[in-house]
Amino acid sequence: MCTRILLSIPRGKDNLSTNFAELVTGFEIKEVETMKVTVENRVLELVEGDITEMETDAIVNAANAQLILGGGVAGAIRRKGGPKIQAECNKIGGTFVGGAVITTAGNLKARYVIHAVGPRMGEGNEDEKLRNATLNSLKLADENKLKSISFPAISTGIFGFPIQRCAEIMLSTAIAYLRGSTGLEKVVFCLFGHSDYLLFAGQLEQETSK
Ligand code: ADP
Repeated sequence: MCTRILLSIPRGKDNLSTNFAELVTGFEIKEVETMKVTVENRVLELVEGDITEMETDAIVNAANAQLILGGGVAGAIRRKGGPKIQAECNKIGGTFVGGAVITTAGNLKARYVIHAVGPRMGEGNEDEKLRNATLNSLKLADENKLKSISFPAISTGIFGFPIQRCAEIMLSTAIAYLRGSTGLEKVVFCLFGHSDYLLFAGQLEQETSK
C-alpha cells in the first residue's frame, strides 16, 4: 500500500510563499521539484534535475551493451566522473540488453554507477527489456547492500523509447520491487526537464492510487 506524503510542487513566483521547496545557492533561488511516496516504509521519490548531482549510493547510467560512455546520461557521467568509470567498464567488456553491471563512481557524489542497458526503439521486445534493465539494476543494488539508487528515464533519449511507456514500466517495476523483500530504503527517479518530470509525476499518482 502506498501513501503519498508530499505532493508535486507548483512552479512560478506566485507560489513562492506556500508549498514549494527551494534551494538557495549564493544569491540565486532555485526551485526543486520533488514528489515522494512511501511503499512499505521505503521511499520512492521523483526529482527534476541532473542525475550526476544525486547523492544516492548509486546512480544508474542509461548504458549501451558495449558499455561505452558516449552522449546523454553516459556522457555527463564520463565528464563529471572522470576516466576511471570507462576504464572499469572496459574491463567488464559489455552486457546484454536488459542487463546491468556495476562500477565505482569516480569523482561523482554517488559511490557507484550501475550501468543498465535499455532497449533501442525498433529492436523488438522493448517493454520487457526495459523492465529487465530496471529490475536487474535494483537487484544489483541489493546484492551490493546499497540503500539508495537514482534512475534516469532509461532509453528515452538517444534510444528513442516513448517517455510515457517508460514511466509506466519503470515506476510499476520499482513499486513492485519495493513491496517485496529488499534492503533498499530509497529509489529516486531523476528526470531531465520539467515535462518529463510532470509526466512521471502523473504516472506515479496513477500507480499509487491503484
Ligand atoms: P538512452 O540511450 O538510453 O536513450 P540517454 O542518455 O540518451 O539514454 O537518455 C535517457 C534519458 O535521460 C533522456 O530522457 C534524457 O533526456 C535524460 N538525460 C540526459 N542527460 C541527463 C542527466 N544529466 N540527468 C538526468 N537525465 C538525463
